[in-house]
Amino acid sequence: MPRREGGRSRSAAYLVLFASCLLAVAAASHQEFHEAAGSRTLLMSHEHTNQVHCSRERSRAAWKAIDEYLMPFVEKEKYELPSKCRLHPGNDMFREQEQHKIHFDINEWRCGFCKKAFRAEKFLDQHFHNRHNNLVDNSQGRCLADLCGALHCDLMLEFKKPKSKCSATAAARNRHLCESLADSCFPINQGQSASRLHEFFLRQFCDAHTCKNGSKPFPKGGRKQTNRFYLALCALTIVLLPLFYLIVFLHQREMKKGGQNLRRISKVVQKKKPS
Ligand SMILES: [Zn+2]
Repeated sequence: MPRREGGRSRSAAYLVLFASCLLAVAAASHQEFHEAAGSRTLLMSHEHTNQVHCSRERSRAAWKAIDEYLMPFVEKEKYELPSKCRLHPGNDMFREQEQHKIHFDINEWRCGFCKKAFRAEKFLDQHFHNRHNNLVDNSQGRCLADLCGALHCDLMLEFKKPKSKCSATAAARNRHLCESLADSCFPINQGQSASRLHEFFLRQFCDAHTCKNGSKPFPKGGRKQTNRFYLALCALTIVLLPLFYLIVFLHQREMKKGGQNLRRISKVVQKKKPS
């Protein structure tokens, strides 16, 4: 009887050991790929202690607007943005982290600092917040999201808010912010390029801050993007064209062979006929 009880307790111990092993493996594999809900709560508590009141998502949208609708023109003019200009890449507190995002596949993002992999961009954002926040310099004037009103961030964000009624006060405020950006980034007394870009910036970003219908943001266009579909079509054509010629060539060769055979048969028939 005691032996049986000993056996039972031993098997129970094995069972517990096995279950804890399973749990450990599951936990490790889960943590390997992305930070779980637990770290999300951690992030929330972090947010209270670490005073970064700047939206990463809206900063990203602001950067997208700058990169797509301003930078191509700045580059064309070979103009260097002054460091006090808030549109300067160095004045975006998240720029360094954003540049260390590696997007392998639709479901695979990697941290460029420690190479850890994540299933979605938002998990990588959380990882940056938890592990590499020392790289964020959140000193005054480095939050790009604060410029969203001037830069039309809502247009850049994929989920569009339902169109609310135009507020004249908000439009005037955004226009003022927009014009102050034009003044600080492209001072008209800094030469031809600066004054050309000043004028351009007003047309491209600031004119649309009005409740009157008709003026849309980015009338001068943006960076030309290569169409992925077009690229895929080109690649497919390059691969399929030689294949098509090969098939035509083989087909013609078979036809020739068939013709020769026919001629040979008809000759044989003609020779046989006189006898
Ligand atoms: Zn990392």
